[in-house]
Formats: sequence, structure tokens, C-alpha cells
Amino acid sequence: MTSDTHQKVKAAHLQRNAYLYIRQSTLRQVFENSESTKRQYALRQKAVALGWPEDRIIVIDTDLGQSGASAADREGFQRLVTEVSLGRAGIVLGLEVSRLARNSTDWHRLLEICALTQALILDEDGVYDPAHFNDRLLLGLKGTMSEAELHVLRARLQGGILNKARRGELVVRPPIGLSHNSEGRLVLDPDKQVQAAVQLLLDTFRRTGSAMATVRTFRQENLLFPRRVHQGPRQGDVVWGVLGHSQVLRILHNPRYAGAFVYGRSHTRQTVDGSLHIIHLPKEEWDTLIPGAHAGYLSWEDYEENHRRLHESAQAMGSDRRKSPAREGPALLQGLILCGRCGERMTVRYHSREGRLWPEYMCQRDGIEHAQPRCQRVPGAGIDQAVGELLVEAVSPVALEVALSVQQELQHRIDEADRLRQKQVERAQ
Ligand SMILES: [Zn+2]
Repeated sequence: MTSDTHQKVKAAHLQRNAYLYIRQSTLRQVFENSESTKRQYALRQKAVALGWPEDRIIVIDTDLGQSGASAADREGFQRLVTEVSLGRAGIVLGLEVSRLARNSTDWHRLLEICALTQALILDEDGVYDPAHFNDRLLLGLKGTMSEAELHVLRARLQGGILNKARRGELVVRPPIGLSHNSEGRLVLDPDKQVQAAVQLLLDTFRRTGSAMATVRTFRQENLLFPRRVHQGPRQGDVVWGVLGHSQVLRILHNPRYAGAFVYGRSHTRQTVDGSLHIIHLPKEEWDTLIPGAHAGYLSWEDYEENHRRLHESAQAMGSDRRKSPAREGPALLQGLILCGRCGERMTVRYHSREGRLWPEYMCQRDGIEHAQPRCQRVPGAGIDQAVGELLVEAVSPVALEVALSVQQELQHRIDEADRLRQKQVERAQ
């Protein structure tokens, strides 16, 4: 450390705390080892060398080993921002500080707050004062480069996977009924019982043309269907259970049973709140499709024929449903009501009578899955009326007034807190 860095550290800084923020993104952990965690703790010694007493160095490591995708991972970073904005921080320490934040927006905000509260920033290269233009420019650049680096790492990782997939060499967990042999080739499961069950499912569908009828046949014959356990102590084991409707659809839609290698049948997109949303793509948009790549239970033509039949029956169902409004019906509790007998969410169906639509609430999710009669159905008119009356009662003018005043009180408190922070910032300046 040069004498220049010592000139930046003033007595006023030393009176406040030093915050050591430790965080590693899961992606970087792929490329690096835990060595950097040790390096981050070594920064502590630098702060001591600059004059901070040991007990004034506060370590924030609640975000360690958290994925950047979830919103919860930012608890530690939020705490850091709060401490800095309250003027408690004299210096913020971090290994390659630009990694403090998850993205460069967060990083620039932290720089701004540091500048306002006169907090310094320390990384392995030296001490920065964000209030100085040159230091801030450099720190901003570091943040941008860190974001770019993360992008390159991700692209390299995904590029490797895609290349392998396009050659058909990527090892993807096979569905039940297929397994890898000792040479790494995908073959029909050596367990004859598993093989027979998959074959029976496909044959039954070909005969009946309906996934529902396939489930019903298995149930009537008291036949079980195999499933591989993917988690827990019995991982890899095959367990036998009742065949479900969604299971039949999954198998009929899976091209691997026709001996085709596929990759990229769906996309994952991140939503505003940080949760992940999976989008299933149509066949034309799959990234990789190599027919005849390995052994299968049916030909590619049969697979496509099954697909066509499923599509047709879905359309037939759809036109039937279209006779009544699917979503914009007048039922008050659409999508809200739970079945009192089994706890499943109930669906709504309308009947047209005397020029009006009458809702009926039905519990049929489990019934469809296992080809069983539906659990129960309840005429909706009486329920809607009773709930409607309750609603009007609850939202009377008096109740509204109370809710509004509570809202005002909350806003008032938020404003008050803002004013306090503002004063603190002014005082710091
Ligand atoms: Zn039910």
C-alpha cells in the first residue's frame, strides 16, 4: 500500500466501522475454489493495518454460497447498503469490490451512497474514495467489467453444453424405460418388467387413442407403472406406482422413446420478481433433434402419429370448452375456491340457462389424473351470492375509512424515515 492510500484514510473514517462484505456467485464457484474466501478474510488484516481496531470490523457473509437468481440472496447486500446510508461505515472492504453487487445498477447505487456518506472502499488493489471523480470512474469501470466477465463465463459454459448437445453427445438423464449400457450407449432398460410396462402404455394408447383411456386400462387391470427416484437415499431405484394422466402425456410427448436425441425443448426466463418461468417450445424451435440416435420403443412416424392424435383430442376438448367462456366468466370465485373434501383447487364450468350463465364449481383435478370419477361438484349461484354479500359487508364505508387511514399512517412513517435519512446524509456532508 502506498502512502497515497494512507492519505485517503482520515480520523473521521477511523471513528466509524469497517464492513467486510463476502459473497461469491455460484457460477464463479464453478471456476474458482474456496481459496478466494480465504483471500477475503485476509482483507481484514489490511483494514487492521490501516488503523481499524479488530472489533470495529464487521463481517457480512450471509450471502455466501447463495445463487444470484433468488431474491433472498440480497439480504447481506441490503444490510450493507443500509449501514452505509446510515453513515455508520468508514470503509467497505471486498475482494474485487465490483463483485459486491449482483449487477452494475446495484453497484453504482452503492458508490453513490458511499460518496454521500464519505465512506471509502478497499479491495486488493488499494483504497478508493468514491467522492473523488477519478476513483469513482475506476470503480464504475470495474463494476462494468465484472458484469462482462460473468457474461463471458456463462456463455462459455452454455456454449460447451450446446456444442455437445448438437453432436448428440451430451449425457442427459434418460426417461424410465431407457438406460445407458456399459459402453455409454442408450438402450432399452435391461429390466424386462420395466420394458413391458412402457410397451404396454404405448400399445394401449395406440389402441384407444386417449391418454385418459390408457390410465383407465391400467387402473382396471390393477397394473402399476415404474418411476425412477431422482432424489434422496433411494436415488436411482425404480419404484412402482399408480399410473397418472400427466405421466402418460409426458411419455407420449417425449421423443426419446422414438430413439431421437433432443435438447432445448424449453426455455427458462427470469421474471421481474426473480422467479424462473419455463416456456415449452414448439418442435420447430427445439435446439437439437437427431432422430434415430439410439434405441427406442416406437418409430418416429408412430411418435408423430401419437402427437397428432393427442393434438386432435386436445382441440376437440378445446372446442367443447369454448362453448362457455374459459376465463372471463361471471363466476365470482374462479380459481380461488378449494375443495372441502380433498383440498384440491376447484375449476369452474358454466351452464347456459334462460339466457344466463350459471357457474358450477368442480373438483376434478385428481379425477382426471387417475381416471376416477370427479370428487364433487357444487352449483355456484348460491355460493357466489353468499360470498358477494359478505364482501359488500366487509367493504362498508366505515371499513374503507379504517383501511385508508392505516395506509396513510404507513406512508407517513415511510416519509418520516426518509426525512431522517436525508438529515443524516446532510450532516455527513
Ligand atoms: Zn375434492
